[in-house]
Amino acid sequence: MSAERATEALPDAERARDAGGRGARILDGRAIAQAVRGEVRELARALVGRGVVPGLAVVLVGDDPASQVYVKNKDRAAHEVGFAVRTLRLGAETTQEELLGTVRELNGDRAVHAILVQLPLPRGLDAAAVLRAIDPAKDVDGLHPENVAELVLGSGRGLVPCTPAGCLELCDRSGIALAGRRVVVLGRSNLVGKPLALLALARDATLTVCHSRTRELADVVREAEVLFAAVGRAALVRGDWVAEGAAVIDVGINRLPDGRLCGDVDFEAARERAGAITPVPGGVGPMTIAMLVRNTLLAAARQSGLEGVIAASTPAGQEPSAPA
Ligand code: NAP
Repeated sequence: MSAERATEALPDAERARDAGGRGARILDGRAIAQAVRGEVRELARALVGRGVVPGLAVVLVGDDPASQVYVKNKDRAAHEVGFAVRTLRLGAETTQEELLGTVRELNGDRAVHAILVQLPLPRGLDAAAVLRAIDPAKDVDGLHPENVAELVLGSGRGLVPCTPAGCLELCDRSGIALAGRRVVVLGRSNLVGKPLALLALARDATLTVCHSRTRELADVVREAEVLFAAVGRAALVRGDWVAEGAAVIDVGINRLPDGRLCGDVDFEAARERAGAITPVPGGVGPMTIAMLVRNTLLAAARQSGLEGVIAASTPAGQEPSAPA
């Protein structure tokens, strides 16, 4: 598809330019995440009123500095919405058996509705085995094979990984439609790319998934009316790869040599062509934490038979797919 045709197909909301006329509408992930968290706080109050305090347990093994920051932010966000949060800090010398024992204990604890094991785990620990050990109903990261299967089936019964769910929520609340449109997902990791692709497909996107072996990547990206970039390569996507008017959702978080954070997209160049674009930081990142608290709320409601109380706030990708 030519860039011109891609532009024609865009809804008004995406063609809208910011007040200064300097290119793309900037999608404010912080503001949208704050709105989601506000809704979760209200619904959590409704659960508390029925005697259920949503409980989140975060397990951090070792002393990876980035993980420490992520866990602190998750802990704070969960406290803010009124959840009972327990952060378990285990030493780097923790064995696989000890970690599995901790997970089993949390599985059996009725006050804990959601379990998150912060990744990556220190060398020598088997993350896949740990994720499999988590009760799928409490698997708030959506990485247990049972939840992955529910996502593939489009059943709406599972828990969906937070970052991909956050990307869709951001699109939904920004008027960016996926149905029938050319959507390109850069990256195919189990954590981001694959679930994002499945969510887009469930929304009737015409989908292309790219990875490190994709040939003529720039040409494929130019076809995108909606682009999700999740590769972990600073500014890999050049401005002239972006179709005029396209929506660009940048998942990447890359640390530059000068200490600044940068996405997978060359933001300044891409914003001149895109219709809408997420900044880094302040785009997808805050949405991930918002989806974590929403997944925790959902897990608590389901485990307590109170799903109806929060029905108005079903996370992206967790509603049953529409009949064909
Ligand atoms: P990952 O596991 O390293 O996967 C990267 C994917 O990108 C792989 O599928 C890889 O292809 C592909 N890729 C790498 N280099 C490429 C290239 N030059 N051209 C095309 N494809 C390429 O990373 P991830 O966990 O998915 O994370 C991706 C990015 O998102 C990272 O920057 C990460 O920090 C960020 N992230 C952000 C959040 C958030 O909350 N905002 C959450 C999670 C992750 P192959 O499969 O062929 O190797």
